[in-house]
Amino acid sequence: ARTGTNNNIQAKLVLLGDMGTGKTSIVLRFVKGQFFNYQESTIGAAFFSQVISLNEATVKFDIWDTAGQERYHSLAPMYYRGAAAAIVAYDITSMDSFGRAKKWVQELQRQGNPNLVMVLVGNKADLEAKRKVDTKEGESYAQENGLYFLETSAKTAQNVNELFYEIAKRLAGAC
Ligand code: GDP
Ligand code: MG
Repeated sequence: ARTGTNNNIQAKLVLLGDMGTGKTSIVLRFVKGQFFNYQESTIGAAFFSQVISLNEATVKFDIWDTAGQERYHSLAPMYYRGAAAAIVAYDITSMDSFGRAKKWVQELQRQGNPNLVMVLVGNKADLEAKRKVDTKEGESYAQENGLYFLETSAKTAQNVNELFYEIAKRLAGAC
């Protein structure tokens, strides 16, 4: 949850989306500044902490990564319970993953937390030649559902820092 005093925010951040969309890669790019071209899914759930300093606040993210349970298209609600922010990821080269992202958005919206900061992310933006989901499609779905939207690439680092900064700003009430 979003706890702490005014200028010192601690926020649980979860990632949802199909397996293979690049959730772990986005986190590793953000936390370690690296891209790993491995094929294996996360083995064991992982937890990362990272601080972002804004002018008006410091935001400490507690990032929960999955252990690949998303393969079964279900995640225990305890995974996202108490989350202050959620990244819902799809792969721009997979229309199926975009469809699944919409399901995750609906599931989160059913939790009924109006303060949840939710971002829709179209990852693998470096694979333009294989693109199946137009930027406009992601953009308009996000707009209709009141989500922030970005296309990222964990591989080239495109928009990855921006993604976490935008979430931090929203948590700090700066947007
Ligand atoms: P997760 O299952 O959602 O956690 O996805 P992973 O982070 O494990 O990534 C799945 C595969 O996609 C791995 O082989 C990654 O190297 C690759 N991948 C992740 N992000 C990107 C990206 O932005 N661009 C490209 N080209 N490949 C990516
Ligand atoms: Mg993973």
